[in-house]
Amino acid sequence: MSAAEDTEVKIPPGREFQLPTDPDHLWDGLQDVGLGIRWVAEVKKADMQIELSGPKWEYKSYTILEVIEDPNQVRDGIVTLIGPDIHEVEPGTSAPSAWEIKVYGPGITQRHREYVERQMAMALHGIEGYMAFGSFQAPWMRISKAVVGRLTFAKLCQVVHAYVKTVVPQVEKMEFRWIVATPEVGGLDLILPLYKRGIERLKAQEQSVALEDEDVDIFYGCTICKSLAPNHVCAITPSQIPYCGILSYNGAQVTVELDPEGYIFPMPKGECRDPDLGSYTGVDEAVYERSNHQVKRVNIFSAIRYPTTNCGCFEGAAFYIPEVDGLGLAIRRYIGVTPLGIKFSRLAGMISGGSQNHGYKGISLRSMQSKTFLKGDGGWNRIVWMPADMKQEMAEYIPEEVYDKIATEQDTIDPGELREFLKQKGHPIVERFWKNGEPQPLNLPPPGGDWPDE
Ligand code: SF4
Repeated sequence: MSAAEDTEVKIPPGREFQLPTDPDHLWDGLQDVGLGIRWVAEVKKADMQIELSGPKWEYKSYTILEVIEDPNQVRDGIVTLIGPDIHEVEPGTSAPSAWEIKVYGPGITQRHREYVERQMAMALHGIEGYMAFGSFQAPWMRISKAVVGRLTFAKLCQVVHAYVKTVVPQVEKMEFRWIVATPEVGGLDLILPLYKRGIERLKAQEQSVALEDEDVDIFYGCTICKSLAPNHVCAITPSQIPYCGILSYNGAQVTVELDPEGYIFPMPKGECRDPDLGSYTGVDEAVYERSNHQVKRVNIFSAIRYPTTNCGCFEGAAFYIPEVDGLGLAIRRYIGVTPLGIKFSRLAGMISGGSQNHGYKGISLRSMQSKTFLKGDGGWNRIVWMPADMKQEMAEYIPEEVYDKIATEQDTIDPGELREFLKQKGHPIVERFWKNGEPQPLNLPPPGGDWPDE
């Protein structure tokens, strides 16, 4: 949203709308749109007026909320729309998008960004005719034909503006910019450079508040997704961003400070049983209590042995490939077939629901950037396959000596060919996990079961 950035990327001019900013009138004009939990629903393709991002665009779009510390940089209640509004497109239109939100409030710092982001997500989920899946950095939104003429992009922003200012009174100003990148507006070519820059800005903000697991005595748990998966509990540590990708350790900490009776709760670490697997007595106790006594133990840094449960809103997943005794990775936007012989969508369906699925673990892109990423399974030395664009995106986090030895769909999706690929490339898995040059497949216990030696 800075002038310099816009000059470089050449963003077409947009239209501006002013939302009500008087606290008594924040919700004015929204009476003709349904709001609240009863409106949480999926919008089927046949019913959509417009789709933004999602698999058709390989999720290459974004929603970015930034905390701005200079009040003069945020114009309260201004919405800039670049591109067509909801009622101005042909029904069934699909386009990549960028949605940028600037927030200012005295006392609102980078530590609060995720908390505000989460409140924004809560507001959006209850809007009639609006569907959102995925994460802010890989969104998938649809707006139903049923709300054409009643819902506009400015009104979507108004709901967010009114809700966030109501539940986080410290927020004083919010400004919005929507780019609906239909071909006339610039399509993906316009969105991609903005996306790259936005992600870089967010990374810099996150690094400014970074901690290590060893620095803290308390982790945090989250049970928001219990409504989808009743036995599900996420464990959030400084190094482990949960797989929905929308909450970090700092975000969880702030959430508990501001909302101590909410879904996020402190999880004292207790005694560390195994630093590589990420096994802690305090975490196990908390997970057991909050999982309806269904999950006895979890290893935070393992996909293979006692992984954390998967509700269903993960950005990606790690999956065990028995033929090579290794782990594959895939992300929602990958629409091809994995070495398991199935697509990501089918895999996600199989491992969702809140069970402990040995060999499968939901992951977020940010968790892959951590030094504890699947550490208990061998870390990157156990990763044998991942989609090419995901590999490229994660290039700076994959150890240089392994990078070329991880196969992609461009090399093979066949497990037999993958085995030969790994041998030929000298992947570390051959030396460290195979015996005499041959993989030794593990016999994974069924979901919720125990490993025989436990
Ligand atoms: S995936 Fe985990 S951290 Fe994310 S909202 Fe669901 S329960 Fe909370």
